[in-house]
Amino acid sequence: MPNILVLNAGSSSYKLALYTIDKASIAHPQKPIWNCDYTWKEGAPTGHLSTFYNGKTLSNTTAPKHEPKSTLKTLLKQMVSCGAINDLTSIDIVGHRVVHGASAFTTPTLITPDVKAKIKSLSPLAPLHNPANLAGIEIIESLIPIAKQAAVFDTAFHSTLPEAASTYPGPYKWKEIGIKRYGFHGISHHYISLRCAELLKRDVNELNIISCHLGNGCSLAAISKGKSIDTTMGFTPLDGMMMGSRPGALDPGILTYLEQQKFASADSLFTTLNFNSGLQGISGTTSDMRDILKQRKEGHPRAALAFDMFCHSLRRNIGAMAGILNPIDALVFTAGIGENSTAIRAAGSLALIPMGAHLDVEKNQNNKPDTLISSQDSTIPILIIKTEEDWLIACACQSLFSG
Ligand code: ADP
Repeated sequence: MPNILVLNAGSSSYKLALYTIDKASIAHPQKPIWNCDYTWKEGAPTGHLSTFYNGKTLSNTTAPKHEPKSTLKTLLKQMVSCGAINDLTSIDIVGHRVVHGASAFTTPTLITPDVKAKIKSLSPLAPLHNPANLAGIEIIESLIPIAKQAAVFDTAFHSTLPEAASTYPGPYKWKEIGIKRYGFHGISHHYISLRCAELLKRDVNELNIISCHLGNGCSLAAISKGKSIDTTMGFTPLDGMMMGSRPGALDPGILTYLEQQKFASADSLFTTLNFNSGLQGISGTTSDMRDILKQRKEGHPRAALAFDMFCHSLRRNIGAMAGILNPIDALVFTAGIGENSTAIRAAGSLALIPMGAHLDVEKNQNNKPDTLISSQDSTIPILIIKTEEDWLIACACQSLFSG
């Protein structure tokens, strides 16, 4: 059985998960043998590390300052020293989450020098993500030279978007130079579609699903017969619904106004749109939904406004995805907010009340993963599903490894 290591090398976190799997079925997730989550804030003197062995917490502590190679070396050392694996040469294949594959990568791909060059060339499309993903690939290459490596792309699942959904209504020239809706969180939406079918005991090829991935970044997908046919994120992960620190869709006239009136430059807009908008921008204090909920309870008006705007944006975008699907067979909530916030699921589900969808208040309150939370008389099943992006990447690696 191959030993598969999954690395999600982000711009503020490294997540690793080790699996040993023989015949993988995406819809039946297995727990990693070992996994860890290292997070850092730019410029901070330390990071934070949690490690787990067979689901049990091994450590939850501050960790040395982030420096990509030494961080990964430390994490791999911990994986070996706790006995999860004999040594690094026992790792057969390392799967990497790569955010932007554009039109070049529509399936999981073994990494070659050409693939790395292409991922690098796509960096301008995902400047916060692709360089960090590529650095992860190159570091692993130097630390575990014997292992095969594979890239699984967040954009790939949306490569099935029809032209009418993926083309932006600017000049036709934009289409010719690759400006189109690529969509993101595809690994999560793909997993959700298969797991949802499994939980409903239906064939995914018979289902129309609205998948709501609500984490720090938020995106919705309209999935028909196992294929993404529309999604809220676009050319970049800035489009769509309101998020932790990104605004989601804006009137583009705001940007030209700010620039023309010299309120902002292209560089400052990049920072504003990526880090100082969304929940962060409106509350002025936090991009974290848990803090927003707490501050709202304490009576902070800007946190209350941020919450109301988030709910409005979610409802509006569920409505948009609903308009693309006929009929709607399931509404799914996933990721940090989707899996944990009763209030936000309740607000989002309001979008489908005209179609006869109703939550079961008690089930919704339980926050239990992989359960149905709609009432018995609901015409549309509503579910919470825990996303398992690492598992999907591990399954993709397993099938590439066994050829
Ligand atoms: P990422 O996109 O970085 O993977 P996550 O899926 O972990 O993010 O989601 C992070 C978001 O989930 C944060 O806004 C966090 O506040 C929110 N979240 C986590 N737990 C809860 C909870 N119990 N209630 C509400 N929001 C939560």
